[in-house]
Amino acid sequence: MRYLVVGAGFSGAVIARELAEAGHIVTVIDTRDHVAGNAYDYTNEHGIRIHKYGPHLFHTNNKVVYEYLGKFTEWVPYQHRVKAMLTDGRFVTLPVNRKTKEIVGEDNVIDIFFRPYSKKMWGMELEALNPEVINRVPIRDDDNELYFPDDLYQAVPRDGYTTMVQNILDHRGIQVYLNTPYDKRKSLAYDHVFNSMPIDQYFDFKYGYLPYRSIRFETCSLPLPVALPSTTINFTHDGPQTRVTEWKQIPFHGENKYLTTLTFETPCCYTENNFERYYPVKDAEGKNRDVYLKYKHETPENMTFIGRCGLYAYLDMHQAVNSALAIARNFLVNNKVNT
Ligand code: UDP
Repeated sequence: MRYLVVGAGFSGAVIARELAEAGHIVTVIDTRDHVAGNAYDYTNEHGIRIHKYGPHLFHTNNKVVYEYLGKFTEWVPYQHRVKAMLTDGRFVTLPVNRKTKEIVGEDNVIDIFFRPYSKKMWGMELEALNPEVINRVPIRDDDNELYFPDDLYQAVPRDGYTTMVQNILDHRGIQVYLNTPYDKRKSLAYDHVFNSMPIDQYFDFKYGYLPYRSIRFETCSLPLPVALPSTTINFTHDGPQTRVTEWKQIPFHGENKYLTTLTFETPCCYTENNFERYYPVKDAEGKNRDVYLKYKHETPENMTFIGRCGLYAYLDMHQAVNSALAIARNFLVNNKVNT
């Protein structure tokens, strides 16, 4: 059987790999000039590894996913730490823990750490956002200082995400074509299409646009060995930047005795950033989800939508991989495709 996978990010790469390992021929296309989707990373002129589309920190409790990806990379343990910078310049631990509460006062936590940040991040008031979004960042009663305090597996791929995804795609049954946008006529040549393109775009936006937030990244290098008190600093002011990341503080992101590279993030609507879709918007009323479901309902029989833009879901990397493994394995079983 011949399959087309649209998008060479985590979702597409994992599905392509599973199909290829089952003996099928898989074509992977991506509109960008690189694989790894929004996890793409590269090394800058100072020898420092940058995640082009913002910091990607792998964390999960899912052993299966951790071990699956471990076939394609050596994992290096890394526990992410974040500080919030108060408007007077003091740094406090995030997620908010006992000590942070002691410093700012428990009653002020939402207004200091969540209200302004979420407004600039999502372009809407906190109340208009589905609470699941801010619940990603817990408020704790203990002294834990980790950004992902509850996850058993926290690590970075030793040679970067791009190399890991290249390794996933490195199979004789898989052919990858970059700079190749999806074209409906292309799918005719395939038995099934796994499609990570924005689902509303596939249907020519006939039920309306699904909103996304995007980020503008500003990267600069400073003549300092180290600049920040933790890898990432979140800003509590009311804008426009949300956070800054110092890449060198992540293991295997480059050694440079004299310089450090920082990336600042400024959220915006995706239409203001070259239609770069990063975050599906989970509104409190579920209006966006309803529009998505209308599109989903019309999915052609020979197509499966995958990934953040295909499923319109705020998937973390481990969730994208888990979902992709389930989709591929169910497909192979249910279609009883001969191998
Ligand atoms: N959030 C916040 N203040 C922070 C960090 C997070 O209000 O200092 C909220 C905000 O709405 C954000 C969400 O929690 O979009 C999820 O944060 P996370 O750090 O998980 O976002 P990601 O790393 O995926 O951008």
